[in-house]
Amino acid sequence: MSTRLPRRIIREVQERLTERGGGAASIAEIHGLGGGCINPAARIVLETGDAFFLKWNEELPSELFLLEAEGLEALRQTAAIRVPTVVGVGDGWLLLEFIDSTPFGPGFGKRLGRALAELHMPGSERYGWTKPNYLGPLPQENLWVEDWAAFWRDHRIHPQLRRAHDGRRISMSEKREIEALLVRVDALLTDGPAGASLLHGDLWSGNVLSSRDGDPVLVDPAVYYGDHEVDLAMAELFGGVPHDFLSAYRERLPLRSGYVEVRRDLYQLYPLLVHVNLFGGGYRAQAMDHVRRLLGKA
Ligand code: ADP
Repeated sequence: MSTRLPRRIIREVQERLTERGGGAASIAEIHGLGGGCINPAARIVLETGDAFFLKWNEELPSELFLLEAEGLEALRQTAAIRVPTVVGVGDGWLLLEFIDSTPFGPGFGKRLGRALAELHMPGSERYGWTKPNYLGPLPQENLWVEDWAAFWRDHRIHPQLRRAHDGRRISMSEKREIEALLVRVDALLTDGPAGASLLHGDLWSGNVLSSRDGDPVLVDPAVYYGDHEVDLAMAELFGGVPHDFLSAYRERLPLRSGYVEVRRDLYQLYPLLVHVNLFGGGYRAQAMDHVRRLLGKA
């Protein structure tokens, strides 16, 4: 994929910034940024000094960035945690407020834990979301259901299993083991959540920023309503999120028994299968370790 910023996108972004500012916006600088897992990104600075974060990708489905913008807006409306303001969205691009970030400082984990618990206060009786969206570049099925275990089995694990099998990323015997686990998901999730929480949905450390004031800021969501432990399991999976976030979180929103023993593995299996589908390699062994541990408990 080319990381060159297409002229069409520069023109559309400039138009959007002009519309926003009520006068011609002249771009003074465009700095390419590394770090995005999927999309090229740049820092756009106007002559006024205002800075914006632009990411783009002309090869992904055109609604992807619109859905990301809607997810950011849903998170923003909770007022529980900061997200960048959406400045504009177009065909193949998303323009956001630029977050001047710093490395996580002392106390950041606690602030993150408290804000996340606030975000996760149950807000719906049903699980799912109004429409399908994406986790990174992969489609994520959504609809509204009342049965959380069925949602997790049929709309999270199963589509990734199908994709991994169709793409020959797992063997037939691995597929059978995961199918054996799917039959047991109901039994593993008997202690269901008290209500559905709005989830960030892709909560790894790269999507958590610390503002200059040390406030947590979340980016790149894949939102839906689900068991709040799903975000925690993901945050614990890849490391990098300060470890004290969980104790601060639990002070506000206790975890049900069985999270560490069972559900964390079951919830981590979804991002692991997504990683198998995106990157293959070592993630397959890690995913199968989770499956076998869970089969031993079912
Ligand atoms: P991708 O869709 O490619 O995964 P992200 O949205 O996760 O891209 O952004 C990639 C990186 O850019 C993030 O890990 C973060 O460090 C940085 N970033 C994301 N959004 C902003 C923003 N609004 N302001 C400043 N930096 C950002």
